[in-house]
Amino acid sequence: MELDARIYVAGHRGLVGSAIKRALESQGYQNVLEQTRSELDLLDQSAVAQFFAKERPEYVFLAAAKVGGISANATHPADFLYHNLVIQTNVIHAAYLYGVKKLLFLGSSCIYPKFAPQPIREEYLLNGELEPTNEPYALAKIAGVKMCEAYYRQYGSDFLAVMPTNLYGPNDNFDLESSHVLPALLRKFHEAKTMDASHVEVWGTGKPRREFLYVDDLADACVYLMKRYSHSDIGSFVNIGTGADVEIGELATMIKQIVGFRGNIVFNSEKPDGTPRKWLDVTRIEGLGWRASTTLRKGIQKTYEWYLNQHQSTV
Ligand code: GDP
Repeated sequence: MELDARIYVAGHRGLVGSAIKRALESQGYQNVLEQTRSELDLLDQSAVAQFFAKERPEYVFLAAAKVGGISANATHPADFLYHNLVIQTNVIHAAYLYGVKKLLFLGSSCIYPKFAPQPIREEYLLNGELEPTNEPYALAKIAGVKMCEAYYRQYGSDFLAVMPTNLYGPNDNFDLESSHVLPALLRKFHEAKTMDASHVEVWGTGKPRREFLYVDDLADACVYLMKRYSHSDIGSFVNIGTGADVEIGELATMIKQIVGFRGNIVFNSEKPDGTPRKWLDVTRIEGLGWRASTTLRKGIQKTYEWYLNQHQSTV
């Protein structure tokens, strides 16, 4: 990927896309193309094709997606299927039609079976039933991974996919109904501290285990793979994680300390736990010479600093 290559980051305002953009710019890439939702509606097939015909991107990072936590997935299953299937189909097909040199599709660790052996290896894909709370999202992402494989097999398109574990960092969604656990807890503890509340409610039993990757580490891995590897080298897709997971209860305690909240943690077991454990095997990506560098504590501290800057006026 030459420094003046035309690189399109789809979803550049989101958690992942904004981090990829930061990584590319910090490495000296000068030609990063981006489109806001009002400039280009990725659900509109002909608009996407026209954009590719006009701008002729050479490399594409496909980070545009409808994402959300356990509650958003449960209440909007049709939206998660429709938006993700259509966005990725439009972009991947246009990338093929207009001769994109390389495309990197962002999958997710929730595409693996609910009871996959841990840590989860890439070959466990489609070996069992999915977690029902996010099945529509997972099915769409599986279709995206399979599209990359199919276009490679049929047309030789160099389309690769990465499966990041749970991500967090700047530009995350902090809305309590639709967000993932880490930003939700950061906000809950922050607001509880500000209001001097007695406790913070954590959903579920606190026993499920999750792995969390700081989004700048993911962006670094994505750019690293785009620069050096092809579909055939990575075996179509590759997990990206830290190699370590934590209990939700431990995560809550760590966030409580970082925020400096002195009250109690109360678990609400009326809320769903979701999948018991989601821990990725990172042997393949480490074999390609990449490893995550931000510790969970450091990443949460940086995210909290970003959150405080964003909310200065309301603190
Ligand atoms: P998942 O990884 O797809 O299950 O999605 P989430 O990040 O939404 O949830 C991970 C785990 O954190 C689940 O066991 C949730 O029940 C638990 N959790 C605890 N408190 C919260 C919260 O305030 N918001 C969310 N989204 N999850 C929470």
